[in-house]
This record gives sequence, C-alpha cells and structure tokens, in this order.
Amino acid sequence: MKATRENPILYIVIPCYNEQEVLPITSKLFLKKITDLVAAGKISDDSRVLFVNDGSSDATRDRLVALRKRDARVCFLSLSTNCGHQNALLAGMLYAKDYADCAITIDADLQQDVNAMDEFLRCYAKGVDIVFGVRRSRDTDGLLKRVTAQAFYGLMHAMGANVIRNHADYRLLSKRVLLALDQYTEVNVFLRGLIRSLGFVSCEVPFDVSERYAGQSKYSPAKMMRLAMDGITSFSVRPLRIISITGFICVFFCLCFIIYDLVVFLQGEAITGWTSMMISMWLIGGMLMISLGCVGEYVGKIYMEAKRRPRY
Ligand code: UDP
Ligand code: MG
Repeated sequence: MKATRENPILYIVIPCYNEQEVLPITSKLFLKKITDLVAAGKISDDSRVLFVNDGSSDATRDRLVALRKRDARVCFLSLSTNCGHQNALLAGMLYAKDYADCAITIDADLQQDVNAMDEFLRCYAKGVDIVFGVRRSRDTDGLLKRVTAQAFYGLMHAMGANVIRNHADYRLLSKRVLLALDQYTEVNVFLRGLIRSLGFVSCEVPFDVSERYAGQSKYSPAKMMRLAMDGITSFSVRPLRIISITGFICVFFCLCFIIYDLVVFLQGEAITGWTSMMISMWLIGGMLMISLGCVGEYVGKIYMEAKRRPRY
C-alpha cells in the first residue's frame, strides 16, 4: 500500500443482474466520474470501472463486452450463474484487491448518488478505511419497499445482527480491508454485517437516493427474505436462544395447566376442556415446528460451510 493516500487507484465495483437497460447510461456516468476525479487529481488514471455480471440471462454480458472494446477503463467479471448480489460484490472486491488501493461498491441502477464518491474519497484520504454510504430518506421507495426495509432493519437489530440502518452496499473499502475480507472463507456472506465486524476506522456519509433509472428491482421479496435470513443466521445465535426461552415458557404454562387440572379433578368436576386441549396441542406443535425450522436453518448453514464450496 502507498505510504500516503493521495492519488489512489480506485475500482468502482458494480454488480449487474439483468441490467441491460441501465448499462449504457451507467457506464457513461461512471466513466465520466472517473474522468472528473482523475482531472481533479483525486484518483490515479489507472482507476477502473469493474462490472460483475451476476449470471444475467439478458444481453448484459454482450453489452459489457462491447463496452470493454470501446473503453479500456471498463473491466468486467462474468459469473457463470446467478450467485446473488452479495457474492457478485464479493467477487468484484476480491478481484479489485490485487489492483486497486481502494474500491467503491455501488448498484448498477443509479439509485445511489454518484457524487457522494467525492466525500468517500475525502474520508479515505484522511485515513478512514471503510466509508459507509447511508441514505438520507426513503421517499423514492414504494410503500412495500419502505415497509419491508424497515421490517428488515428492525428484525436484524432484534436478532442481534450488527448492521447500520439504511446502509445498503454503497461503500468504500481500502486495500487493507479488502485483504482482511479475503481471509473470511465463509460461504454464507452477508457483507453489511461482515464488513462492520472487521473493525478498522470507519465513517458514514449521507447520500440521496433517486428512482431506479430503468428496469425492475432485481430484489424479489423472496431474495429479500433470503438476505434477512442470511444476515441473521450468519451473525447471531439469538434465534436459538429465543427458542430455548420459548421452550421454558411453554413448560411453565404446562405446569400451570397440570396444577389447574389437578385442582379441578380433586374438586370432582368433570373435565370439559376439550377446546383448550386442542388449542394447546396445536400451539405446542406449531412452536415445535418453528423451533425445528430455526435449528434446521443453522444446521443447513453448518452443512454449507462444511462443504467449502467456492462462493462464486
Ligand atoms: N443484483 C445482483 N444479483 C442479484 C440481484 C441483484 O447482482 O441476484 C444487483 C443488481 O443488478 C443491482 C444491485 O444488485 O446492481 C441492487 O439490486 P436492485 O437495485 O434491484 O435492488 P433494490 O435497489 O431494489 O434493493
Ligand atoms: Mg436499486
């Protein structure tokens, strides 16, 4: 790494999954950003825009090939199948670590304000290793997205996963951080939590969010659920603890029931509590199932980690 942080080689890492509509404008904008930053003497002219094609089924890959031919500052990786946003990001960052002094990850859809990069770089120059982009408001999101996003952060906090509210994957990482990240070999990656847990000097920079430039959100509700599940299970064992606590509460209620039944029996009254029997049966059955599912989630993770499959 350079002794000073002046004039770093910057790689802008952009995951793309079926982004053929936005690519022409995205590439133009990021290349212009690089040109401007180089002209202002803020980054080296070896800086690059690095696209990661996450196994797109549309013309994304062809567009990237064409872009690369037109401008050598465009590089791209192409994953053979859809590995998910987090893995695509990781692939890009781990590639960048060999060439760049710092990398900024950003979405392809231009929702995040590109001009916040100036501030990111100012922080980097001052010695900050991780700069988190934090969105100012969620006005541009639809109601569903806003509600699910709030639920997501609420759930993450309740379950003990350490994430920054309203920070998605728009951030700057120094080479040191990229190298540290490379030492994590886990398969189940949740970068927002993982990067936070690395330590290093960090700061937050607010930025504005606009509408998606073109195309549809690539995060289906199912993918969002997956992300939340990954986030919780890869960073916290609180769900397991909640199961045990629920178990204790169940047993306590059971004891109360037994005592009550005994009293009723000794008083010689006929037991007519068929309904309550059924309810408690269902309740306990249901809770057992949920608990088992939760345990299964962890066992599944252990299984996946034990396999040591490549992540991308
Ligand atoms: N993305 C990806 N793989 C996926 C899903 C999404 O690489 O399986 C990329 C996508 O191309 C975009 C970024 O992740 O650059 C964020 O996705 P999107 O904008 O659709 O999510 P949203 O902003 O709606 O949360
Ligand atoms: Mg988006």
